[in-house]
Amino acid sequence: MSVESKTNAQVMTRVTVIGAVVDGLLGLLKIGVGFVSQSHALVADGVHSLSDLGTDVLVILAAKWSNEEPDANHPYGHDRIETLATLILGSVLLAVAGGIFYDSLQRFFDPSVAIELGIAAFAITVASIVSKEAIYRYTRHYAQLLNSKLLMANAWHSRTDALSSIAVLVGLIGVSFDLIWLDALAALIVAVFIAKIALTLLWDAMQELIDTALPEDQVTAIRAVALDVPGLRDVHHIRTRTMAGKTLMDLHLQVDPRVSVSEGHEIGCWVAASIRAQFQEITDITFHIDPEDDAEMDQEGPTSLRPLRREVLECLRADWGPLVDDAQIRLHYLRGAVDVEVVTSQPVTADVLKSKSRAVWLGRVTVLHPTVGDN
Ligand SMILES: [Zn+2]
Ligand SMILES: [Zn+2]
Repeated sequence: MSVESKTNAQVMTRVTVIGAVVDGLLGLLKIGVGFVSQSHALVADGVHSLSDLGTDVLVILAAKWSNEEPDANHPYGHDRIETLATLILGSVLLAVAGGIFYDSLQRFFDPSVAIELGIAAFAITVASIVSKEAIYRYTRHYAQLLNSKLLMANAWHSRTDALSSIAVLVGLIGVSFDLIWLDALAALIVAVFIAKIALTLLWDAMQELIDTALPEDQVTAIRAVALDVPGLRDVHHIRTRTMAGKTLMDLHLQVDPRVSVSEGHEIGCWVAASIRAQFQEITDITFHIDPEDDAEMDQEGPTSLRPLRREVLECLRADWGPLVDDAQIRLHYLRGAVDVEVVTSQPVTADVLKSKSRAVWLGRVTVLHPTVGDN
């Protein structure tokens, strides 16, 4: 577990550092060439590339922190840090879309701010498109491999940079053909596209932060896998939520009410193991063993608590005398009552015992006689 988390953080960091190096080089190149060729647009684009370093740093920090092992303060782990970073990254992308949109509107109404022409600007813009698209594909590959929304968000960030460079390229071509409006139109389309990606990222991250369950068909599939385990009678209250590509779940397992605590627990362990084997993204399973179907009662909690063993035995002792201490007494808390199993070699019958007791909580009384030689 810890080895795997470490490699996740390392892979995310390596992928992002490579993207950051490209951002840094592109930024410096654009600013340099922009200054030499007196291109205001290219300098602005270069500043944008350098600002991308900021989100790269965010991703690297989030990768490091979110993959830390659970500690006393964060017993569920730190994965939601990744969700939070995705939320920030989505907001940045939305702001980028807003900026491009505003720019393109300005150019529509005031064509004099259109971008300047130049062979260097062409070359740099093409280099920017190719390298950012390559970084997008590279980052997306690892995002899918690690099932990381944050890395996917950063991948999309790279692609939006490639797209805005395409808008710049279209603008440059437009300028050379005297079609000034072409640039503004391209930028407008790119802005809408980036906004859509940003909103999708924000929506997904917010769904995760408000503990949205897995889709219903997945929950149904999990239920089916659980019910395949022998000894399990039913499942209720399957609750799922996600954390940065991992799923946490808790569920109630109904077993035969007469099995021992350890047998019920073992059935639960088998259910958890088979769910984990089928659904690798489910990393945390908490199960609750139920002796009967209490799906309705679970909502409000038990209406009244029944007495525990000491109190039960005190009552029974008053009715049944020393038999209580000589026999082995098994208690079953079912249907709101306490069923009593009396295991004794003495010649008593359930009828005799039942007629004596007046306790309201007392359910069925059963007498079991061990055969000779039984232990
Ligand atoms: Zn346990
Ligand atoms: Zn239950």
